[in-house]
Amino acid sequence: MAENHRVKVAIVGGGIAGLALAAGLIKKPHLDVHVYESVPAYQDVGAGLALHLNAIKAMALLGDEVRQAYSGKALTMGDENQEMVTEVILGQGPHHGQLVAELGRAKGRKTVSRADLLDGFLALIPKEHISFGKRLVNIAEKSSDKHVVHLSFDDGSETTADCLLGADGIHSVTRGYLLGADHPAASPKNHDGWQIYRTLVSTEEARKQINPKWTTSVPILLGPRGHINCIPLNKNTRLSAGVAVRGAVVSPASQNGDGNASSRPLDPALYADYSEEAQQIVRMVARDTSASWAAGDHDHAPTYARGRVAMLGDAAHAALPFAGNGAAQALEDAAVLDALFALVRRPDQIARALAAFDEVRRPRSQAVVDLARKFGRVYAYAEDGMHEDPERMRAFFAEMAAFTNDFDVRGQNEAALRVFKGVDGVSGMDGVRGDLGN
Ligand code: FAD
Repeated sequence: MAENHRVKVAIVGGGIAGLALAAGLIKKPHLDVHVYESVPAYQDVGAGLALHLNAIKAMALLGDEVRQAYSGKALTMGDENQEMVTEVILGQGPHHGQLVAELGRAKGRKTVSRADLLDGFLALIPKEHISFGKRLVNIAEKSSDKHVVHLSFDDGSETTADCLLGADGIHSVTRGYLLGADHPAASPKNHDGWQIYRTLVSTEEARKQINPKWTTSVPILLGPRGHINCIPLNKNTRLSAGVAVRGAVVSPASQNGDGNASSRPLDPALYADYSEEAQQIVRMVARDTSASWAAGDHDHAPTYARGRVAMLGDAAHAALPFAGNGAAQALEDAAVLDALFALVRRPDQIARALAAFDEVRRPRSQAVVDLARKFGRVYAYAEDGMHEDPERMRAFFAEMAAFTNDFDVRGQNEAALRVFKGVDGVSGMDGVRGDLGN
């Protein structure tokens, strides 16, 4: 296809959503795709992901090489043919030690560090399709121009494109543009004052300090003064361990989801009534909390798209990390956009594709934002006495895990295509949206 007939797609943000989407779109000869990433090079901040089955299905839809990029970088949680889970266990109170949930059940399930996963995706994108050190600062649309979307970067450079797909993370410029900077949902919030105290240690060191079984699995130990989790990284050479505490952020910035908000220090003495195993992890985390941050998420945006501009991933629906499904939702977004852009042959089809994306993806991804908030309350024993009744907790988690994990990701792509083609409207989602039931 002649160069000037290709649809020019600008992806801003080369994180999980942006790179996965680019890996899909660059295979389509009718598209001219470029990724603009703000950082000069990726930093490994030790963030660990335990991707659920819906994430793995979304990667497979983007391409076998995308799924394999993940498999090649990740650490298998056990045998490839064995189903592995995140175990949610009561860590305090009369029922301590009881298993209340198994999340993210999937064969050959793996944990992966964000940096490793980005590395794997990046290897799929030819160098000429990505620019680093390009921080988007302004978006303008000029209908009189050949390429209507104008992007300005903080180094003074500019570019134009037929559309902008903003995958620029929780503090998204694209979101501010679509919603308006003064919109109440434009910026992240930390409604419950969550602080995540986190440490990164070598697995060898961790095995001296905590029960070694927690260095090879993904446990979440619950209790009223914080839930504790461990996630093995970098092919089991490092361990990320954390304590997430509700109400720990004390500065006024707590309402703004400001990652630098001040918080109380982590005091292991407050965890004396937790199980001994849980206390060991708290003590290990408290030794070095320099990798800690205040959490944040997004109140619901009224739309993810307008005309030629859309947002995806955390830019559209940042969630608290407690349901372990933020990256999975970013990958579902990428899979849906990839399917839609297979059909976008002309710029005048873009707005319809982005409207279909919004219609299909917004309800489900915003339900996951709500779900992650609810997981946080349940983990903190703050949800209506649920922790006193392990059976009730089990029923809750089983239903919620099915909503994220067992979802028909392929069906969602098909629903988006039906909406795009005008076969049906909202009913295109029948049978794939799932019912959150709360
Ligand atoms: P990001 O990965 O944040 O990428 C955004 C990119 O945009 C970045 O590279 C950034 O540098 C770039 N950028 C930002 N602004 C600009 C700009 N103005 N111009 C250009 N580029 C810009 N999810 C799961 O599914 N499973 C898990 O187990 C899980 N665990 C988690 C644990 C923790 C502790 C946390 C914090 C999150 C976890 N998540 C998990 C959520 C997951 O990490 C995020 O949802 C996911 O990274 C979102 O991907 P993204 O590409 O939308 O955003």
